[in-house]
Amino acid sequence: AAVGTNGVVKVIKDLGLREPYNGAYPLVSGEIAEDFTHYFAVSEQTPSVVALGVLTTETHVECAGGLIVQLMPDATEESISQLEKNIQNLKSITTMLSEGKTPEDMLNIVLEGLQPRILDKIDVKFECECCKDKVQEALVAIGKTALSQIIEEDKQAEVGCQFCNSKYMYNEEELLNILKDM
Ligand SMILES: [Zn+2]
Repeated sequence: AAVGTNGVVKVIKDLGLREPYNGAYPLVSGEIAEDFTHYFAVSEQTPSVVALGVLTTETHVECAGGLIVQLMPDATEESISQLEKNIQNLKSITTMLSEGKTPEDMLNIVLEGLQPRILDKIDVKFECECCKDKVQEALVAIGKTALSQIIEEDKQAEVGCQFCNSKYMYNEEELLNILKDM
């Protein structure tokens, strides 16, 4: 109820290309897992299973977790029906977490019979790869005229990263150098 249905799922992925990938789709249910499933299906055309769970006590979050399983383009009917069967029997994430199941355990349960292999493990963290040079592109994007005007009027500029809200200051000399390179 707190999430509501009046909004969008907005996904920004840095795939290492020039521009980050941007996707957005209206919320359909307000249940985050359902909305992500819908987003993947409609916006990325990828059939997906998304399950999320939070185990709370009266005062705090004991643990939280979730899983996303996505079909590869060449998934066989056999694999798909095996996966569907596994999902039907899948306990809730909250239950599995409270039983002390690890991500590997959950992976083996949801992919039972499909011989899962772990290819890599990555720690999840909140991190942004922005830096002054990267954020500077925003100044380049506003164009020579607007930048010249800023230099003339303010003699400095502050640019915020749209992902992590870090702020970067540019003094007059730096701005003139950016302008010169444009
Ligand atoms: Zn950032």
